Amino acid sequence: MFSLINIKSVAVIIYTTLLLGCVSSEQKATQNKYAQQDIAYVNGQFFNQSHGFESKAIIIREGIVIANVNALSDNFPGKVIDLQGKWGIPGLIDMHTHSFGNFIPNAKNDAPGTQGVSQRVLKAGVTGLVDLFGDETALVAVRNRQRNGEFVGADIYASLTCFTAPKGHCSEYGITTRTVSTVKQAQKQMAELAKQKPDVIKIVYQPSDDQPSISKAVFAQLVQESKKLGIKSIAHIKTWQDIRDAAKVGVSAVTHVPRGEIPKDIADLMANADVAIIPTLSVHNDFVNYLFDPSVLNSPLLTELVPDTLISAYRANDLIAKYQDRKTSFQQRNEVTLNAVKAMSDAGVKVLVGTDAGNWNTVQGYSVHREMKLLTDAGISPLQAIASATTHSADFLGIKSGFNEGEHANFVILNASPVDDILNTQQIALVVKSGNIVVQNDPSLSKL
Ligand SMILES: [Zn+2]
Repeated sequence: MFSLINIKSVAVIIYTTLLLGCVSSEQKATQNKYAQQDIAYVNGQFFNQSHGFESKAIIIREGIVIANVNALSDNFPGKVIDLQGKWGIPGLIDMHTHSFGNFIPNAKNDAPGTQGVSQRVLKAGVTGLVDLFGDETALVAVRNRQRNGEFVGADIYASLTCFTAPKGHCSEYGITTRTVSTVKQAQKQMAELAKQKPDVIKIVYQPSDDQPSISKAVFAQLVQESKKLGIKSIAHIKTWQDIRDAAKVGVSAVTHVPRGEIPKDIADLMANADVAIIPTLSVHNDFVNYLFDPSVLNSPLLTELVPDTLISAYRANDLIAKYQDRKTSFQQRNEVTLNAVKAMSDAGVKVLVGTDAGNWNTVQGYSVHREMKLLTDAGISPLQAIASATTHSADFLGIKSGFNEGEHANFVILNASPVDDILNTQQIALVVKSGNIVVQNDPSLSKL
């Protein structure tokens, strides 16, 4: 027994000596830098906003990317996941959703609530969502639970409420919202809301609408108050003139695309005033596609995300028959909307993916992929469409999420190139949220 211990000790000494004698200074540096707990994703093509997809190795520790390198050294001590040349994009972010669930035409709504939606959309690679109006108290509570790690879901951000005129848009849903008519009320309501820590401010400004709207002076005040708080403001607008006013008062983004051809001044005006656009093409354009393009409802990803009742509702013959005559006019109108978004993008306006999910012809999670598809239909490149759904949105929200050192390890691994076909964003092999694999569709990639 004693001799056995002695032999072991000698072996340890010899091994240690060999090890110290053989490693180069570079290897020593690597050994010091990485630990057994680290996870390396190697042989992946990772999205880079300026360079496209690059072959890289990404190293993660405690949910944070600690290195983004060309190749991993042989003596990396942690776990290695070989991505076999697959494509990595940062976690998708929906910048405009109403997270109660999904509306279903002529059927009971699919309403798992914000927590259920936040959990479910991970399957679609959505790791962040921005609720732009719901029940303020309930949203604060569910956001806290998500942030405290009480459930694993997409990061929840929210405007919490909607600033609007008394009886204005947002007040028709039976949910309490913040109504303001005067500059004084705007100041008071904003100070109250600030205590709840909204992530963005949502303002409804549409003076030409049938529903009452706040005045331009109140709009300007709300935007000023948001700026003082250091919170980005997003205005729901209806007309091109509303966008001119929004640029003038200095709003951070507008959401929706007005009807009709884009006037010549708008795109440059937005670019110069640094007003981003959240076009919500899903809610504007996708109805005709849900009804008349079978591939939209045949998506395997969609099937994973919703009950069959939703898919069959859009396949219903009576619904299709009802809109058959308007198919061409819808398509023509959609073309005009796409042209407007392309003009904005060409002028340098930041386009952010938001779906307005919760409405007709949108689906929580799936519509983020539809939005990227519709952006490419507008003539925007797949790389730009991906940036709109990932890095641009993260920048807007001031969050660090992606593949760069120091960012939260939220990403999606795709089986096929989204540059070859943007629909390949739906070919999801893995979803990683805060460094953990939360969706594993490809058994050939080793599981943690
Ligand atoms: Zn909305």
